[in-house]
Amino acid sequence: MNWFRRFMQGRYGPDSLSLVMLVAALIINAVANFTHLLVLSVIALALLALAFFRMLSRDYNRRYSENQKLLGLCYRVRNSFFRQKDKLAQSKDYRFFKCPSCKNNLRVPRGKGRVYVTCPRCGERFMKKT
Ligand SMILES: [Zn+2]
Repeated sequence: MNWFRRFMQGRYGPDSLSLVMLVAALIINAVANFTHLLVLSVIALALLALAFFRMLSRDYNRRYSENQKLLGLCYRVRNSFFRQKDKLAQSKDYRFFKCPSCKNNLRVPRGKGRVYVTCPRCGERFMKKT
């Protein structure tokens, strides 16, 4: 076990992105075995090699920033999912519009008839039916 610790000294090691790549490689390999498509086997092998390259890499900063990009993407996807869920929960009492000039999301109470909506960000005024 000591030689392994010495071998991994100064190397980046496993992270979320490497794990995702390994799992993707396994899934793609399983599909490749099932469909007998050589191109999928090659992609799975390339992903596997890339995952190991990342884990054994000594360029800590670059590997770290790659992983941060994945985590940022996951955060944005999760955030947008929860925003949609929140919107759906509020859709009985509110209507949602996008400002035509700055694309800001606006929330207006339902059942007020035709109203002028004023965007708080850019001041654009537009008529909407609530
Ligand atoms: Zn606006």
